[in-house]
Amino acid sequence: MNRRIHVILLLTCCGPAALSQQTAAPQLHEDAVAAISLISEARVLSTISFLASDEMAGRDTPSPELTIASQYVAARFRGAGLDGGGPDDSFFQTHQLVTTMPPEQGAVLSEVNGESIAHRGLLSGGPDTIDLESIVMTEADALAADTAEIVCLDTLHVPPQAAERPQLVLATVARRIRALMEKQTKVVLIRCDGESILPPIADRLPEKSLFLKDGLKPECAVVLVSSDTNPVGKKLSIQVGAQRQVQNPVRNVIGILRGSDPGLSEEAILISAHLDHIGTRSYGDDRVNNGADDNATGVTAVVSLADAFASLKTRPLRSVVFVTFWGEEKGLLGSKHFVDKPPWPLSKIAANINIEMVGRPETDAREKAWMTGWKHSNLGALMNAGSQRIGVEIFNRTDVGEMLYSRSDNYSFVRKGVVAHSFSAGSLHDDYHQPGDEWEKLDIPHMTRVIQGLFAGALYVADNPVAPEASGK
Ligand SMILES: [Zn+2]
Repeated sequence: MNRRIHVILLLTCCGPAALSQQTAAPQLHEDAVAAISLISEARVLSTISFLASDEMAGRDTPSPELTIASQYVAARFRGAGLDGGGPDDSFFQTHQLVTTMPPEQGAVLSEVNGESIAHRGLLSGGPDTIDLESIVMTEADALAADTAEIVCLDTLHVPPQAAERPQLVLATVARRIRALMEKQTKVVLIRCDGESILPPIADRLPEKSLFLKDGLKPECAVVLVSSDTNPVGKKLSIQVGAQRQVQNPVRNVIGILRGSDPGLSEEAILISAHLDHIGTRSYGDDRVNNGADDNATGVTAVVSLADAFASLKTRPLRSVVFVTFWGEEKGLLGSKHFVDKPPWPLSKIAANINIEMVGRPETDAREKAWMTGWKHSNLGALMNAGSQRIGVEIFNRTDVGEMLYSRSDNYSFVRKGVVAHSFSAGSLHDDYHQPGDEWEKLDIPHMTRVIQGLFAGALYVADNPVAPEASGK
């Protein structure tokens, strides 16, 4: 920066109006200073090194490890002295997530009055057991007909990354055959040559049930056949079992610190982070996507802030609700569940401070944080006024801050009209969504300092009689 411009900027920034805005937050009292000292590098390290350990297997939704991680967060909330924010005063808001897998027995195909036909795997069963005889039609003929029970696709192109993501294969199939569902199609055959990646994917499908979004799962049986045979025009007999369904309990973890003001404590500041990550991959020496930065750091921040807030002898005027979400990586599912069945009234949430990736700063942003969607409310200015009391800056990151506003759980709250933003102090590094996102690579002093800054900022917002306001932009 040109030195003269620098001086002008300094003079402008330090004019009387700017000064009064920056010093609007009252000085931190002794109680708050003591609370901040609980957010130490040692405590941050012990939390993050557990949550991001290989034993947590990447905290996939759903998985036993995500369930263990949610129990850990509940234990931390309990130990901090928070009240449970779920039904019956528990710490859990539970949802039964349905996942599916193909039927155990596979499929049986034969020509009517003829030979049985070997198939190369089953990508999906139908909603019900199928036992039918019908003539196999081409896709084009099926689309021109009124009904087409068995349809054969000559080929199916899937993206290369589908080898690691069976959900992507099933979504590709679902999109391709959508129009056939209006023709009462019960079975789709897909011809595969020797190079096709579909049979090995079909072989792995019975190992793990998969979560498939509505509209992105085949609603009929999908059977792979060799490209050496062409069943079109033949009358086939086909038996396929129904797609198996598995219920998986997944949990948002919710802890509440009641505010000290009889009126304002009806309102809450909601401090959140997503607990889930993307699980494991099937190749390589290191197969665990640890999700240390994304987002064990955010969860570490949430439980550290719970410790600090709960230690205050004088509680903030507003209540503070602490939450970790499941299913962010699958499409903000846990936070959508929270806002659809809110355990705390949405109209009484003064602001959502969501925390995402605070462990690996860019070189010029050590010990600073930034807020997404800055222009949409005055929360960033308020948080910065509070955090500057201990010298931590919260700034408007203009390059990606707007784009990332809609990419995390805060956006589920934005959709419902709540002032909600994500706070980050990280970078879009090469280890993002890779096994290399390990806790050993985090900058623990930076992360600790940022969490302390978020405490000073959130305390100011929780204690401020005037709630943050949406800007209407
Ligand atoms: Zn994330």
